Amino acid sequence: GQQALEKAGFEVQTVHVAQEQLASYLNKNKVSALLVRSATQVGKDIIDACPDLKLIGRGGVGMDNIAVAYAREKGLHIINTPAASSDSVAELVFAHLAGGVRNLHEANRLMPLEGDVHFKTLKKSFANGTELRGKTIGIIGFGRIGKAVARIALGVGMKVIYNDETSPSEPIEISFYDGRSVRFDLETVPFEDLLAQSDFITLHVPAQKKPVIGAAEIEKMKMGAALINTSRGGIVDEIALVDALEAGKLSFAALDVFTSEPKPEIQILMQPGLSLSPHIGASTAEAQERIGEELARQVIHLLQAQQSTAGL
Ligand code: NAD
Repeated sequence: GQQALEKAGFEVQTVHVAQEQLASYLNKNKVSALLVRSATQVGKDIIDACPDLKLIGRGGVGMDNIAVAYAREKGLHIINTPAASSDSVAELVFAHLAGGVRNLHEANRLMPLEGDVHFKTLKKSFANGTELRGKTIGIIGFGRIGKAVARIALGVGMKVIYNDETSPSEPIEISFYDGRSVRFDLETVPFEDLLAQSDFITLHVPAQKKPVIGAAEIEKMKMGAALINTSRGGIVDEIALVDALEAGKLSFAALDVFTSEPKPEIQILMQPGLSLSPHIGASTAEAQERIGEELARQVIHLLQAQQSTAGL
């Protein structure tokens, strides 16, 4: 991405700037394109304070850290790379899922501490794993990532059901390495049916005002089901989640995103039934490449007429 921008005549600065120094940095360097991920807040204050800004780009999907409507009102270009990391998030879902059904999240915590003295005890407690093949996965939110999860799940031999009101039926094409492909036609199921029928539930909806899964929804899930949230913190009620893990209603759960990110609650971090990752869903080497190239393509297309500085 950087090479493409430089080839097109842009000066690229790749620096870490503290949030409180962002406006003065942008002004001092006359930055016209600001490219950020999820951590940098680009609110009205930054937009008002930086008259040179012509474009704000988000490497990734969710734009909740950018005052999008306000920036557009002011005539700025707002771009993102929604499709670049769908497969990366979907693979992380399966990393958590395949680990969870074999208790790897717990084994990885306990083996370094007790593996030498209590090997047989650990073997006994973690030898009750289950398999993914033949199980039902319920996908809430059937957009780019939801569909990428469905492709892997179908490949693994799972039954896939989904709930998404805006997407009543969807063809899913699974492409194989040798050019062959297989098509599945899936239909949305009512939310309550998905809760009741799924062995595993994974969430792929945008940020919401209130949790999609709370105590009442967990109550309707199968005994021993598992829940995975790689979408946004707050979409699963974390208190209800911990209660359900402690009560044995859920066999395990996985979180890549947290209500109180970047300082997840200690009760979440210390909960043995949780497989945890620090919001790395989109962060693979391949996705970084795709994101960089896609942002560069759009910046060049939108700003090439002007000799600009792209600050990343
Ligand atoms: P998308 O817009 O392609 O799909 C979202 C889907 O959710 C849409 O089809 C929409 O109709 C549906 N939806 C919205 N509200 C719903 C509800 N209450 N119930 C059922 N369906 C609902 O988005 P995407 O690219 O698939 O991304 C999904 C989520 O993943 C976003 O929240 C995004 O921020 C998050 N994400 C996380 C990471 C990570 O690092 N963990 C990386 C990328 C994206």
